[in-house]
Amino acid sequence: MKAVFLDRDGVINELIYYAEHGIVDSPFTVEQFRLLPGVAQAINIFHKSGFKVIIASNQPGMAKGHMSQESFDKIRQKMKQELAKEGAFLDGEYYCFHHPEATTETLRVNCQCRKPRPGLLLQAARDLGIDLSQSWMVGDSLSDIKAGKDAGCRTILLGRMKCELCHLMDEEDARPDLIVSNLLDTAPILLTERKEVEMKQPNDERDTIATLEKRIAILTGARLRNKRKIKEAILVQDKLRKKSIGWDGAAEIRKWRDLRCLS
Ligand SMILES: [Mg+2]
Ligand SMILES: [Zn+2]
Repeated sequence: MKAVFLDRDGVINELIYYAEHGIVDSPFTVEQFRLLPGVAQAINIFHKSGFKVIIASNQPGMAKGHMSQESFDKIRQKMKQELAKEGAFLDGEYYCFHHPEATTETLRVNCQCRKPRPGLLLQAARDLGIDLSQSWMVGDSLSDIKAGKDAGCRTILLGRMKCELCHLMDEEDARPDLIVSNLLDTAPILLTERKEVEMKQPNDERDTIATLEKRIAILTGARLRNKRKIKEAILVQDKLRKKSIGWDGAAEIRKWRDLRCLS
């Protein structure tokens, strides 16, 4: 059984800007909880493609005294209701409530479950019989990527590539396999992965480019009507041509990621 592990805040729901503290954090009240666009649709696609969909999320809000258990439960209910409106559901929810500086003593634990540690994913895999090597972790923080990698999953970072992130990724050993802008954009990647891995190394350069073009089309297919995306795809294509690289699924994913980084 394969799974898509999802971080919650910034992946499933919007982050909240707390102007008085100058920080971006999780929603602390049910009124602040807003599902991000395309999330339910993405989850439905994952399910249709044979993935379990499991939340793996640090939720230190109670440990830090930001919210009550009641607020957390209400937010959780709202999340599930909002997803259900579009026919989407979760196969599991795994949360770490600990924090090293928790105000509540019982939650002040140096635990194995707080990401970047992989404990939540490992526990879910044991409980639900997940093959981690066939699974993905999708998150908007490098701690999500680190946890996913250390659990043996492939990883996707949601966000925009910024070069200052490259150093951090190397320092933390948290380089994602791919970077895309939102959860729905991960769907074509997860769907085509198996086929790509089975692809054979091409014999000559023309094959390589043709295959890469196909790959670019797959990667950007969901958004090809968007002019900016078309431009971006052409740019990546040019760079790939200049590099005239050989083809193999995993290496190509790494190159795509690196090229995104250069542009
Ligand atoms: Mg997050
Ligand atoms: Zn924990």
